Amino acid sequence: MEYALVTGASRGIGRAIALELSRRGLPVIINYHSNEAAARETLAAIEADGGSGELLPFDVASAEAIEQALAAWQERHYGDWVSVVVNNAGIRRDSLLIFMRDEQWHEVVDTTLNGFFYLTRRLLKDMLTHRDGRVINIASLSGIKGLPGQANYSAAKAALIGATKALAQEVAPRKVTVNAVAPGFIETDMTADLDVAQLKKLVPMNRFGTPQEVAKLVGFLASPDAAYITGQVIQINGGLYT
Ligand code: NAP
Repeated sequence: MEYALVTGASRGIGRAIALELSRRGLPVIINYHSNEAAARETLAAIEADGGSGELLPFDVASAEAIEQALAAWQERHYGDWVSVVVNNAGIRRDSLLIFMRDEQWHEVVDTTLNGFFYLTRRLLKDMLTHRDGRVINIASLSGIKGLPGQANYSAAKAALIGATKALAQEVAPRKVTVNAVAPGFIETDMTADLDVAQLKKLVPMNRFGTPQEVAKLVGFLASPDAAYITGQVIQINGGLYT
């Protein structure tokens, strides 16, 4: 049986992506870091919708945690494999670079960039063997344009975009596609502390996007209809020019 794995699926964009992939017929592995109650809400929403899923907590920044969780999952699921992985887990630790502490730099890079590396490497073999698969990386406007106060986050997301383009070329002969989605401002916990009234003036559509709008794009990229799209960075930002 084929599964989708969505990292950071307990809340926000990841939860909406998990629901969308479930609606498209895939059982979903719901990863999260620590917020089990929120992850259970994602699972309940999937089940209420007629889909199925299961929780798989691990820290994407830890290669050992990924290995342990995936090995245990495979023991419980002999013959099953993950055909769609969405590297969505991400954090912000904003600061002007001159004041940025080491841990603010490393936590963001470890979660976004190392998380992509460890998890995708772990799952790629099955995709190559089956000659089918989708790797979808959630980048950001910040990784394209660079945003002040986010040198750590912009660097991690820009690196994720570079890795997306490189890996896409490596695995294209095996029909595995690798794309990045770069959202602008989306209404989630991550943006809850921002000045929405001020920032939405920058957006031609004059509003933040919703997690569901991002999820629809990811659902399409995960589908057979998107088989010839690879190595792309698709922006979803209400017309915010980058
Ligand atoms: P969010 O509401 O803050 O949710 C973050 C999710 O990531 C949670 O499920 C959290 O799990 C999980 N997570 C954080 N660190 C993790 C780790 N080390 N291991 C596993 N899971 C971890 O964020 P969001 O706004 O939905 O953002 C989702 C993605 O979109 C991120 O990559 C973000 O950078 C990107 N993005 C967001 C926006 C925006 O405007 N919101 C714009 C551009 C890009 P817990 O619940 O367990 O903490």
